[in-house]
Amino acid sequence: MGSLICEKCGKTFHFDVIPRRGAICFGCHVKTVRLGFSHGQENFHGRTIREQEREIWDAAKRDGRDIEYVGGR
Ligand SMILES: [Zn+2]
Repeated sequence: MGSLICEKCGKTFHFDVIPRRGAICFGCHVKTVRLGFSHGQENFHGRTIREQEREIWDAAKRDGRDIEYVGGR
């Protein structure tokens, strides 16, 4: 559980499970899917995935959870 600020529309949205798509609200996610990935695909990858990773770590720390990459042991 947590909330993120959508990178696309700037609105705060809440989630139960961290969205794999990153800090994109459902509304914008649907729009992106409909538009297809031919436009801005490179933007969508790269920064978004890094942001997502950072958010996941931050959220986990906030919750007091300790997460690590699979195979990190
Ligand atoms: Zn949005």
